[in-house]
Amino acid sequence: MKKKKYKFSSRNINQSPKKACNCDSCKEMRSLDRIDRVSRWVLGTIKWTYDFGYIFGSGAFNERAYPLEKFEKLEETEKKYLIETCSQAYKPFKKYLLVYVCYLFGAYFQQCKRHKIKFKFEKDFLMTQLLSFRKMVKKFYKEPNKKTNLWLPMLDDLFGKKDLNLNKNFFLAMLPPLTNQQLEYIIDWFIKNRKEKAVESVFYSAAHYLHLELDENSSFSKIKEDGEMIDSLSFKLSQKDFKGFDKSILTTEISLRYSFVYLALSSYEVLKYLFVKSTQEDKFLNQLISIGPDIVYQAKEFNAE
Ligand SMILES: [Zn+2]
Repeated sequence: MKKKKYKFSSRNINQSPKKACNCDSCKEMRSLDRIDRVSRWVLGTIKWTYDFGYIFGSGAFNERAYPLEKFEKLEETEKKYLIETCSQAYKPFKKYLLVYVCYLFGAYFQQCKRHKIKFKFEKDFLMTQLLSFRKMVKKFYKEPNKKTNLWLPMLDDLFGKKDLNLNKNFFLAMLPPLTNQQLEYIIDWFIKNRKEKAVESVFYSAAHYLHLELDENSSFSKIKEDGEMIDSLSFKLSQKDFKGFDKSILTTEISLRYSFVYLALSSYEVLKYLFVKSTQEDKFLNQLISIGPDIVYQAKEFNAE
């Protein structure tokens, strides 16, 4: 099969020869309020991993290294370690594109259920969701509202350096330069493989997690409302929280807030395999999802020995 050129073709950029689908589901999906909320939640839960697992996890904010006066007194090797660890923290996030696409659609699935919109495994319907997500990431990269909790102001001058761009680095990692044609290709892949266990696992787990977050009767909502901050950070599910979500693979072993890492680690290899073996290959995408360090729950702290 002849390879198509994706990059910089004006046809791709303006590619909408057919009219947007006007079924009830698609019309409702385009009503921005609702979808913004889901995209933001998805982005927020992944950024949480970056902020807390990686930046805080590195020890950048512990009593030895923070605030700046303390940081300045550290040994050079430790300073170097902290700066490097934090400035490279974005790297693992790039290759999990397929994971967060399944995760995003799962979250929309749940939101549709809440609002009684019929969820469709169809291209236009899913494209609206993916474009909304990318628009949101782009906004945070280009003109962020720094007052929202997706932007951690503490990161902006960490270690007294204004050029590390720790917030922006994350958003850029979540925004690979993809053409509409490549986005369609990803969606086609998702539709074709939606019954695969790895795809379903991420999809229904994201739906489950969003449900726990939004449903006022969930045990997680109650903890968030009544408990201390630390209780919601360390909250773990128990068996009763799985009612109605039998396809969710969220676990009772790991804090709910770390779900994205858990899902990424459990599904990545299979999703990548399913994608790479597709007949119509796209070199750029195949590389994007293959290169980079694995995601971890927590960055390592500096070890002096
Ligand atoms: Zn439609």
